[in-house]
Amino acid sequence: MDKHTAVFRRKIIRIIMLTAAVSIMLAGCGRGYDTKDGASTLDAAQNTWADDFTQGNSEGQQEADDTSKIIVIRDDEADNTIIADDFYDKDSGPEESLVEDANDADDNSTGSDQENCGEGEEDSGMTDTDLEFYAEEISDELFAKMQGKSFKEDCTIGREELRDVHVLYVDFDGQTQKGEIVCNKAIAEDLTEIFEELYEAGYPIEKIRPVDEYDADDEASMADDNTSCFNFRFISHTTTVSNHGKGLAIDINPLYNPYVKTVNGALNVEPANAAEYVDRAADFPHKIDESDLAYKLFIQHGFTWGGSWKNSKDYQHFEKDI
Ligand SMILES: [Zn+2]
Repeated sequence: MDKHTAVFRRKIIRIIMLTAAVSIMLAGCGRGYDTKDGASTLDAAQNTWADDFTQGNSEGQQEADDTSKIIVIRDDEADNTIIADDFYDKDSGPEESLVEDANDADDNSTGSDQENCGEGEEDSGMTDTDLEFYAEEISDELFAKMQGKSFKEDCTIGREELRDVHVLYVDFDGQTQKGEIVCNKAIAEDLTEIFEELYEAGYPIEKIRPVDEYDADDEASMADDNTSCFNFRFISHTTTVSNHGKGLAIDINPLYNPYVKTVNGALNVEPANAAEYVDRAADFPHKIDESDLAYKLFIQHGFTWGGSWKNSKDYQHFEKDI
């Protein structure tokens, strides 16, 4: 065999390897794109990759081994970071990238899945955060918990008008938590998108719990700095349903962003334990103002802010006129 033949054979082998690699990557992207179990899709692609190169090609085998190592490390990172362990299915792929996004507020990770696919190993993050941020109809279990609390006897809004929005959020300890927000179906998509962006930016929210856990006591929920939306009620001394009663208003980190109104010369602050956060010129964390990300996102989605009201200020409050 002469030198040219040997060179020719090596070229052919490289072309075959390259073709196989590209095929596997494309197959991985295509299959993992919209599936929920991104990890198992990757595993399948990885196994194919390994099989293709196991026989007599040490370079290919080495690459297969490297792929395995990378995936294992990412699993470990996810396990170490997540504390809401009852929430995650550790075998699934999406949470890995979610955790990374949450830990890196500067990460410009809004690229599409397709873009991620083109980046080799990074595509195990080809996960769809939509899997964790979604709205569903009010389940029987949730509806039972709402009875006589947020969903009162004289409720003038139907169960079918409401949605249960599932979100992830970063709490004040920097940990990922899950939350549920009951809202009007008219703003369910807005909330889903806004809270996904807040999460990806690492925006801290102390709590997102159903207000029914506070017996739908708004003051108790606010005093505990709980973020909530639907809670049926009329505006005081009227038969007009409030925007919270319609599920069209939401309060964010209410302790740090109280409702403030002067009545007959007396300052009324809700929640009552928020007096130190009334001075909006003061510098303190979790303060919503016009430079705040939540403010910007809600305004982008067509909401108005209670901090802009004239006769009172409700710094925690965003609402949408439908
Ligand atoms: Zn409010």
